[in-house]
Amino acid sequence: PRHVVVVGAGLAGVQSAVALREAGFTGPVTVIGGERHQPYDRPPLSKAVLLGSAEHPAFDVDFEALDITLRLGLDATGLRTADHALDTADGPVRYDVLVLATGAEPVTLPGSESTPGVHLLRTLDDAARLRPVLDRQCDVVVVGAGWIGAEFATAARAAGCAVTVVEAAARPLAGTLPAEVAAPMADWYAGSGAELLTGARVESIEEGAVLLADGRTLPSGAVVVGIGARPATEWLAGSGITLGPDGSVTADSALRTSLPDVYAVGDCASFPSARYGTRLLVHHWDNALQGPRTVAAAIMAAEKREQPPVYDPVPYFWSEQFGRFVQYAGHHAHADTLLWRGDGADAAWSVCWLRDGALVAVLAVDRPRDLAQGRKLIGSGAALDPERVADPALPLKSA
Ligand code: FAD
Repeated sequence: PRHVVVVGAGLAGVQSAVALREAGFTGPVTVIGGERHQPYDRPPLSKAVLLGSAEHPAFDVDFEALDITLRLGLDATGLRTADHALDTADGPVRYDVLVLATGAEPVTLPGSESTPGVHLLRTLDDAARLRPVLDRQCDVVVVGAGWIGAEFATAARAAGCAVTVVEAAARPLAGTLPAEVAAPMADWYAGSGAELLTGARVESIEEGAVLLADGRTLPSGAVVVGIGARPATEWLAGSGITLGPDGSVTADSALRTSLPDVYAVGDCASFPSARYGTRLLVHHWDNALQGPRTVAAAIMAAEKREQPPVYDPVPYFWSEQFGRFVQYAGHHAHADTLLWRGDGADAAWSVCWLRDGALVAVLAVDRPRDLAQGRKLIGSGAALDPERVADPALPLKSA
């Protein structure tokens, strides 16, 4: 059997190795991971780990029993496909089949990386560096009102820090949600005692202060930059692997890359969605859990010269912010019809997006049943009665 090498020991990489074993693959499997820590889960980093109620959210996987070789603290620095080899500081690693699962890296503010007191929140080490900031109840400035910014602000408020969130757009989550949906979410910041400054651009960050383009100076005991993430694919430059303009590895519907025997999955990869008629780059946990099953099935199919599987999920994610459980399933476009279920000022509400009469996406705030029912309806593509959808007292059901 051939040797499968997985690059990246996050959820997508570890699950790819596990899914291969579950699919009956008996050949050698090696997972190479840049971080030194035993592979771990990221969502708790901005939640329980920050608040000290969890230490190291390691995956519950018995690598030895599964005969999966882990090589941790080792970065792949280059890919030579002609030789079927990866370059690493420990010398070349040969593969027969390669899975790229290098995830994403946070976008930084240029020049701020070396400034003391400026943090990112992506890794266990990042979270460990932020714990004392919360313990000392530092005044924190959060740059970016996205998912990470909101979750960090939540934890920092819970720890008793004064929190100011600086957002360049006119509202939180501007790249993800329409204005009318984000409007009530903006109020959650003030409700938690955090100050949200929208339309505020950071000019520069100095030790102890954040300077805004409009001349304001925000004193800061610590700064957390949460302005998005980009696929960790720079090391693939020149390898011949096709990358998209967003930096993602351009995978096909079976998560195969542009080169034979090389697959890509998780936060580093985009794939064509027949369901939504567009290419998706999903930076959420569920995609890094589901995608690996397709990768394993595709590798097995190639071994047996069978038809490859098709990956066409209904994307799903959740966020825990300001005491609320926010969930989203599907994918919506600007032109889709937006329907409210309930009032954004209320404790719990949802919004649905319809396209040609069928549900394509749902956002639920403390309405997990809407999410569960909506997710199934999106999957089935059934038509819905918009009037029923708009009545929060009625369950989400096909027409
Ligand atoms: P990653 O988790 O980024 O793992 C990739 C790994 O590859 C990393 O360990 C990296 O060091 C390693 N690597 C990179 N380059 C190389 C290289 N050249 N050689 C070797 N190793 C390399 N999603 C949700 O749906 N809900 C949430 O509530 C949620 N909360 C989150 C909170 C935080 C703080 C973060 C950071 C993310 C959160 N996410 C959440 C997103 C979710 O965690 C990611 O989508 C998921 O981790 C992606 O998994 P991955 O394996 O593709 O990438």
